[in-house]
Amino acid sequence: MISKIIAEELIHKVQKAIKGVEKIAIVVHVGPDGDAMGSSLALWHYLMTIEKEPVVIVPSPFPDFLGWMPGAENVLVYKNAKEASDKILENAELIFALDFNVPERLQQMEQAVMNATAPIILVDHHLQPGDFAKIVVSYPEIASTSELIFRLICRMGDFAQINLACAECIYTGMMTDTGGFTYNSNNFEIYTIISELIKIGIDKDDIFRKVYNTYSAERMRLMGYALYKKMKVYPENKAALIALTAKELNEFDYKNGDSEGLVNMPLSIDGVVFSVFMREEKDKVKISLRSVGTFPANKVSADLFNGGGHLNAAGGESFISLKEAVEKFENALEDYKDFL
Ligand code: 5GP
Ligand code: MN
Repeated sequence: MISKIIAEELIHKVQKAIKGVEKIAIVVHVGPDGDAMGSSLALWHYLMTIEKEPVVIVPSPFPDFLGWMPGAENVLVYKNAKEASDKILENAELIFALDFNVPERLQQMEQAVMNATAPIILVDHHLQPGDFAKIVVSYPEIASTSELIFRLICRMGDFAQINLACAECIYTGMMTDTGGFTYNSNNFEIYTIISELIKIGIDKDDIFRKVYNTYSAERMRLMGYALYKKMKVYPENKAALIALTAKELNEFDYKNGDSEGLVNMPLSIDGVVFSVFMREEKDKVKISLRSVGTFPANKVSADLFNGGGHLNAAGGESFISLKEAVEKFENALEDYKDFL
């Protein structure tokens, strides 16, 4: 048995909301990661088994290394299927918003979701959930939204409806949001849940390989280049930075998701507790921040890069040049010494 984290009242509300409807849209944040895909597809499989008509819509494409996930082939990418997605959102009777806390994280899809008439149920684990959903299932102490989906389904009395595909998706999200259970993963109930998922039949070792060990040669070379040529270490500040220009990314045939995990690598250096990765995009710089211990990656992201996230894993973006973003970061480093 796992403890009843989600309030009883919320369980009833969600149950009631699902009961009367068929057409359900599931939306996640831009740049969907393993947890966004895991939670949305897990919910999709569950809703299919209870004979609803769910559709997962993601604002932008998901990385190739998640393409194997059961149900991924049915996911609509808003960018590429705007008309169909708009129609689905318009006609939806219920919308699940998963793995994000504010509507801005939907980016190009924000208007369509916010203009829809269907009530929104938010299921998320980010701090400070925005005030945009009718039902808010927000538990920042839980390591992944996928874990919350497991808890939600179980509490609705439907553990038996979690099929293998659903279980695989839940596991993927739980695994990726904890870096393969290497951070934010000391809650023992995580392992009780994993044990249940294994009983359902998941092959956790195979899922690990499919997510982490299917690099292209170019992706591997990009990592080598980034670490060898581009990583800067600031020993005084226990920090590290890797910043890659669009040109460099292009040279390595950069594909969506190819830099995933790169930000974590400098944290393997003895004495480094804060790592930042910057990637130059067409009109902005995308920033990923990771930390260990009490150093607040989310505060730095909010202060400098219009972002947020969790204490140890945050992100943001900046509409300045890459060079300016690097300068901004370097100039600000001293300000965070007190957190070391
Ligand atoms: P990642 O570095 O993997 O893109 O993001 C790590 C975490 O930072 C995400 O789970 C999310 O919580 C947060 N995050 C990433 N990008 C943004 C952003 O642009 N704005 C905000 N507020 N949070 C972000
Ligand atoms: Mn998440």
